[in-house]
Amino acid sequence: MIRKITVIECECEKCGYKWIPKDGKTPPKICGKCKSYAWNKA
Ligand SMILES: [Zn+2]
Repeated sequence: MIRKITVIECECEKCGYKWIPKDGKTPPKICGKCKSYAWNKA
């Protein structure tokens, strides 16, 4: 079976790191690279 899924991509405002959360839909609290809590704030 082939199932097409949609995942979100996060981009850190601090360091520019881009990643996809483990479950593909839940934004993490901190950036996976610089560990900033404000990664999603401009
Ligand atoms: Zn970061």
